[in-house]
Amino acid sequence: MSKRKEFLPFALPLIGREEIREVVKTLQSGWLTTGPRTHQFEEEFKKYTGAEHAVALNSCTAGLNLALAALDLGPGDEVITSTLTFAATGNMIAIHGARPVLVDIEPKHFNIDPARIEKKITRRTKAIVAVHYAGHPCDLDAINRIAKKHKLKVVEDAAHAVGADYKGKKIGSGANVTCFSFYPIKNMTTGEGGMVTTDSAQTAERIRILSLHGISKDAWKRYKQEGSWYYEIVACGNKYNFTDLQAAIGLGQLKKLEKFLRIREQYAAAYNKAFAPLPEIVIPAAPAAEVRQARHLYPILLNPARLKISRNQFIDELKNENIGTSVHFIPLHLHPYYRQEFRYKEGDFPVAENIYSRIISLPLYPKMTARDLSSVITAVKTIIQKYRR
Ligand SMILES: *Cc1c(COP(=O)(O)O)cnc(C)c1O
Repeated sequence: MSKRKEFLPFALPLIGREEIREVVKTLQSGWLTTGPRTHQFEEEFKKYTGAEHAVALNSCTAGLNLALAALDLGPGDEVITSTLTFAATGNMIAIHGARPVLVDIEPKHFNIDPARIEKKITRRTKAIVAVHYAGHPCDLDAINRIAKKHKLKVVEDAAHAVGADYKGKKIGSGANVTCFSFYPIKNMTTGEGGMVTTDSAQTAERIRILSLHGISKDAWKRYKQEGSWYYEIVACGNKYNFTDLQAAIGLGQLKKLEKFLRIREQYAAAYNKAFAPLPEIVIPAAPAAEVRQARHLYPILLNPARLKISRNQFIDELKNENIGTSVHFIPLHLHPYYRQEFRYKEGDFPVAENIYSRIISLPLYPKMTARDLSSVITAVKTIIQKYRR
């Protein structure tokens, strides 16, 4: 079979007429920033997740920052998280002057290994940030149990996990503070954007205030007719507020989320079927019985004993076949900032390093067609045939 003619990007959002119409209506309404559509989006998101409070923000990174700020995180504190995550998770711990205490992953779903958490807890530990890798929920019972025992808070980095369930409940519905991402290539998008959910009215209010200069009323309330010119700065906040233009996209995306997730699931199943018989690669482990995975990624692992080429060469070969890929993630402890600032080094987290050396995320998104999907399968098989040993 011949290679595909056009390059297939690793990921693309799927925006429909509904979102475009709603953005135009928002532009015409005269209210562009945080306002009625943002409020409606928060309400819909609460309904979808079952969360008691939801605060929309301009990114998941902002959410992580403020979730940790709401814990009064500061210099000398420590926060435990997985090394196999995006920059945002570790950086938002470090930005408060706290130490990101990295932990290795479990080899099945690549989430933080709960069995390794307890020995990292010290007097300084304040929180655990649980990253739901590829939309597969962490072992939350184990993590929450450890947190309770040691009086720690749990923040969930659910950037991949909008739509995921743990033991029959939606991620975001529990007592923890949970941060979602609506970056263009996540499970749903608002261009840029994020959401924080929590059970605690007090935490939600604190995050909301910190998201807009530490001002005690938001602009929407201030400028409404019954509002007043008076405001107070009660904390040193940031400017992380969500806009009605983003909400205009998000309201349509949220309606389609279940459909998006079903397509992701179907495509993952097609990849599984095609790749399971190949000894040169390892397909993702089936989700644990107690979860619904929101299939954000489809990461394969190469079997180096069976291939004559490295992971990087395999990625180049896929590029030659016009297939875009990515790597999730370069472990935090291998990055210069984490090595220099926190003295991490190669060898610290062998499971994550092994996975990192073999992993490739294949394209998986609802905008892909069935033909796109089969072209990825063909390309992977072609490369394997060429380089198997
Ligand atoms: C994308 C991502 C984030 C950051 O999301 P933004 O909305 O871009 O700030 C955080 N954590 C993980 C694991 C991510 O993949």
